[in-house]
Amino acid sequence: MDGIVFNIQRFSIHDGPGIRTTVFLKGCNLSCFWCHNPESRSLKPEIQFFPEKCILCGKCVEVCPNGAQQIIDGKRYFDRSLCDQCGKCVETCYAKALTLAGEDKTFAEIMDEIRRDELYYKNSGGGVTFSGGEPLLQSEFLKELLIGCKQAGYHTAVDTAGNVRWQNFLTVLPYTDLFLFDVKVLAEEKHRKVTGTGNVQIHQNLIQLGASGAKIHVRIPVIPGVNDEMGEIQAIAQFLQPIQGIELVELLPFHHLGSGKYRSLGLEYPTQGYKTPPAEQMEGFVNCLKEFGLNATRSA
Ligand code: SF4
Ligand code: SF4
Repeated sequence: MDGIVFNIQRFSIHDGPGIRTTVFLKGCNLSCFWCHNPESRSLKPEIQFFPEKCILCGKCVEVCPNGAQQIIDGKRYFDRSLCDQCGKCVETCYAKALTLAGEDKTFAEIMDEIRRDELYYKNSGGGVTFSGGEPLLQSEFLKELLIGCKQAGYHTAVDTAGNVRWQNFLTVLPYTDLFLFDVKVLAEEKHRKVTGTGNVQIHQNLIQLGASGAKIHVRIPVIPGVNDEMGEIQAIAQFLQPIQGIELVELLPFHHLGSGKYRSLGLEYPTQGYKTPPAEQMEGFVNCLKEFGLNATRSA
């Protein structure tokens, strides 16, 4: 079996305990407007073009069978409507101005990469995290990888937005040591407006996951104009308070790290001008969660 992967990140320290390898599976069924991994959304491979790295060597123009890559009057043009993602230009671009987001990878290829850092996992209490996109959209492939990791003795985590059938959770549950579960906003209509989908199923899954005995770290991205108000955080805290299995609630402040990725995909950056919530405000939200008896923290 193989699956579509858009990145494998070694030495990750933000996706669960210790030093980890994070495997990013491509494809997501939410469309959060602040998403910092826009290359994760589509289930298909996509060409990313980073013009600042281009040295105008013209190799991509030579190899493109569809005339999608051009240099006219010393300027580079990429017509995506002509591109069929064959990847030939990526192979020839030594400057790495062209990259392919999303590749079919086999179980063996991914496990080979994961094994490279097993000493770090053991020495740091780390392991392997499967993220996305939404990794549970590829739940059978994910199950195979999780079993491979467990057989090798690695701690496993699955980072999910939870918008899948409960059956997808059941497929991976026996092989997952920790779930990183995103909660964004509590009100159904608002959730639909900012992510493109409702949250009834997401909330049911979180409750059921807790009741199943799973260990859960909830992650809340704090987004200006979406949930950066005390009332929003209080509502989430009230919802989370009775749910079993939640060991930690982590607040993640909005940031601009994804802006270059939007441009590389030919997309408009939707959160231009948004500000990162200040540390004092984040601290206030952490304290609010603690008042509800939750073990809360925030990332920088
Ligand atoms: S191959 Fe890469 S560096 Fe050369 S012109 Fe094309 S994009 Fe630019
Ligand atoms: S991926 Fe293929 S079709 Fe698309 S621009 Fe590159 S060479 Fe041309």
